[in-house]
Amino acid sequence: MKFSELVEYFQRLEYTTARLDLMSILADLYKKIENPEEAAIVSYLILGEIHPPYVGLELGMSEKLIIRSIAMASGYDASQVEKKLNELGDIGKVAEHFISRKRQMTLFATELSVKRVYETLDKISKTTGEGSINDKIRLLASLLVDANGIEARYIARIAEGVMRLGVADMTLLEALAIKLGGREYKAVLEEAYNMVPDIGYITRVVYEEGLEGIKKVDIKLGIPVRPMLAERVKSPEEAWEKTNGNLAADFKYDGERMQIHKDGDKVLIFSRRLENITYQFPDVIEIVKNQVKAEKVIIEGEAVAIDKNTGEFRPFQELMRRKRKYDIEKMIEEIPVTLRVFDIVYINGENLMKKPFPERRKILESIIEESEYIKPSELIYPKNIKELWDFFLLAIENGCEGLVIKNAGPESIYQAGARGWLWIKLKRDYRAELADTLDLVVIGALYGRGRKGGNLSSFLMAVYDDVNDVFRSVCKVGTGFKDDDIAYMNKLLKPLLRDRKPARVETGLEPDYWVEPQIVLEIQAAEITLSPVHRAAYNVFQEGAGLALRFPRFTGRYREDKSPEDATTEKELIEMFKKQRRNIE
Ligand code: ATP
Repeated sequence: MKFSELVEYFQRLEYTTARLDLMSILADLYKKIENPEEAAIVSYLILGEIHPPYVGLELGMSEKLIIRSIAMASGYDASQVEKKLNELGDIGKVAEHFISRKRQMTLFATELSVKRVYETLDKISKTTGEGSINDKIRLLASLLVDANGIEARYIARIAEGVMRLGVADMTLLEALAIKLGGREYKAVLEEAYNMVPDIGYITRVVYEEGLEGIKKVDIKLGIPVRPMLAERVKSPEEAWEKTNGNLAADFKYDGERMQIHKDGDKVLIFSRRLENITYQFPDVIEIVKNQVKAEKVIIEGEAVAIDKNTGEFRPFQELMRRKRKYDIEKMIEEIPVTLRVFDIVYINGENLMKKPFPERRKILESIIEESEYIKPSELIYPKNIKELWDFFLLAIENGCEGLVIKNAGPESIYQAGARGWLWIKLKRDYRAELADTLDLVVIGALYGRGRKGGNLSSFLMAVYDDVNDVFRSVCKVGTGFKDDDIAYMNKLLKPLLRDRKPARVETGLEPDYWVEPQIVLEIQAAEITLSPVHRAAYNVFQEGAGLALRFPRFTGRYREDKSPEDATTEKELIEMFKKQRRNIE
């Protein structure tokens, strides 16, 4: 197929305003194409892709590079091209402008074919290393030299990674369904695409093997399946209703979703958006190699950052610092992660998607060798709403966002690529930084791990109830203490350590040592949440729950100017919680 023919379709797609027209243009196009390879290429190009996103091969051409290619192919100065871009704002239009006014005519211009355009762009995507920039520019210019203005418009847009035809993968699947014989085939195409989200591959199967081939498309180890997603409810009661009480409740960890493919010693990690993020997590790869006891497997989990000293969960933002491409080794040490595995879709050649969730879960549990760095997610099958409520509070208490409630009935398949009611998320509904710091009293101390092992390095903290004269726990804090602080705290604590709970102290936790209330520290936190283990404001907002601080951090200020009875009171905490709720509602 000539590229100019395809470009005619691109133009029609670009200028149409009705989805129905979009569909008939696409159907028309697929009808015209006979060759499977060409059809696959066309599918990629319409989406402005060269490879499916999970391959991780991008063209990597910035505007600057494209400008230089346009200049090289048209004989104008890069500065002129740049000026025009400032004026028009669309690299496609700029390419069209200069290429249709080429200064030097090529004597032997050859007409572009779809295949050549694709192969050249493919080559650009695979050009890496030293000197690659000039090679990329030259390759793109070699296409532009042989292009006419309109062709140049689309080549430049693909190179930049913005095709803007208004066509998405789902639109293409519908057009391919028509190719198969009717829109009713869209569902099976979608099912295939959810398992192998490679539009080129699916197009090729449609062309080469038809409907029968599409029905046989199955999970491929190394290619990410599209993730199952959750609907949302506002209360445990609602979740209970939606599932008729046939449910499992799973902690909703606040980290990054990972789909992990293990093939012997080879491990690949894909993000929620199916990008290959393997290189960012050499530590996770080692853990999976050693502690996932299956030769070939696809599991899903959430990676959560943990505090390197206390092992407690850290906020999502900290994990995001791992996104950097350099200093990965240092990052692994600074921000260790733990993996909480929540599903399995494939094992040793067998697709598990159609098995009900409890069966998948059993298989999952049987292959994970647990440690601090990898565990199945925390899960229960609650017998009543009260158990569900308690588990929800426990999740929040543990630094999670809430629960993912999972249908546990016979219909509970892994619904790839879909947001449905088989998974339901229940999140705590408020999220605001606390403006004020709190002055809290140390009532317990716990040993740390790693570098701080052997030292008491995380502390149970309390507010003061000035009516009943007791100290009620509100959080455990291990973050924000420098080495000097730990040394200093251990010195301060020595005369205050007790084996038994001091009389004026109330908490649902058992620290390594109890501490006579004396030391006051300034603490910053993200927010106040309900908690089943802390005793501040117990039973005030909810039966069986107190208030706790989420993501507490020592600010570095010892409030030695305050006696424990001068600390933040329970009443103040209750006011802060009410205010926080008002701010959100
Ligand atoms: P959110 O911003 O709430 O994470 P989302 O659109 O990314 O939403 P949803 O499907 O709505 O995703 O919510 C489920 C998400 O929760 C998953 O994508 C996953 O990253 C995360 N998650 C954490 N713990 C679990 C768990 N135990 N089971 C399933 N998903 C979990």
